[in-house]
This record gives sequence, structure tokens and C-alpha cells, in this order.
Amino acid sequence: MTNVKMWGLIDHLLLHGTKYYFVENPRGRMRHMPFVEGRKRYGITYCSYGRPSMKPTDIWTNHKEPGFLPFCKGGHKHADWSSEVKRDYLSRGEMPIDLCNHIASVAAL
Ligand SMILES: [Zn+2]
Repeated sequence: MTNVKMWGLIDHLLLHGTKYYFVENPRGRMRHMPFVEGRKRYGITYCSYGRPSMKPTDIWTNHKEPGFLPFCKGGHKHADWSSEVKRDYLSRGEMPIDLCNHIASVAAL
């Protein structure tokens, strides 16, 4: 699914009763795309949610108070990304379970 179609689907679902959306995308080009213009974006780091490497990423959501943990400012040890690159492809893309649980809890409010 292209990003344009995904955002179109999200807008369609919002018109038909879906309350919240949360879209994660590694920091990069999506934040400059026209289809995210006007949508609220939060910068987070996976290490804040228990992942060994820092992995900064963006989350877009229409939730008014998502309560994400602050972006990591250092002060603790990060594993090298290369140590995670050696993991299998699907594991590398996993979101930290603490972040998943956080999103599930705020989406239930
Ligand atoms: Zn960190």
C-alpha cells in the first residue's frame, strides 16, 4: 500500500467511526510529504521504551494527549544499530512492546 493510499484509508476510517490513528515511520522523508501536512507528529526514541539501540522515529497521531516519553537526550548506553541489523528482518522492524502497550493504553481512553 502506498503512503498516499494509507493516509486516504485513515481519513476514510476517521469519517466512519475510527477514533484514533497512530502511524510510525522512521525519521526521514515522510515528514516532508504533502499527505502529512497538518497532521501532528511526535519524535520518539525506541530506547525510551526498552530497545537496546536508540532508533529515533516519528509517530503521527490524532490523539490529543498521546503522552509519549521524551526524545532520548543520551545519558545511558545505546547498543549499536549494527548489533540489531544482525537480527532477522522481521525482528528489526519490531516496535518495542512497551511502546505498543503505551499506544494501546492511550487509545483505549
Ligand atoms: Zn537513549
